[in-house]
Amino acid sequence: MSQIYINGMRDDPSVREYDTLDASVQELIQAAAAARNQAYCPYSNFAVGAALRTSDGSIYSGCNIENSAFAASICAERTAAAKAISEGKREFIACAVVAQQEKGFTTPCGICRQFLAEFAINGKDIPLYAAKPTNLPLRVLCSSVLELLPKSFSLDNGK
Ligand SMILES: [Zn+2]
Repeated sequence: MSQIYINGMRDDPSVREYDTLDASVQELIQAAAAARNQAYCPYSNFAVGAALRTSDGSIYSGCNIENSAFAASICAERTAAAKAISEGKREFIACAVVAQQEKGFTTPCGICRQFLAEFAINGKDIPLYAAKPTNLPLRVLCSSVLELLPKSFSLDNGK
């Protein structure tokens, strides 16, 4: 893999070019980017979009929704997951997150990592792709929910 330098820093080897990813992953990133356009973020002005693909091939997307009572806000990842789960879809096979930061990629916050890890059932990991809406050629951080949160909280309830 060729090394890519951004702002003088070498990329993480898990960063890949968008064009090299499967069409299904590209579609998921585009869905997350489209959802980002719906973000309600008047306080942070930091728009985030997320999309989850479920085992039946469906895509559920979401944006961050802020609130003047800050704690009532919800992230894009949990918005997307709540939409899927409330429609009876719990088996997630991929997740995409799109946001714009100058440096680095936007990965899920701690709460969202825990929230998604709940559905990495029986250690079945969920690939996660973090991308930016601009910056061509588009580059994508390829990770997974369990890589981001390797020792999540879990009740020993025989699940
Ligand atoms: Zn979050």
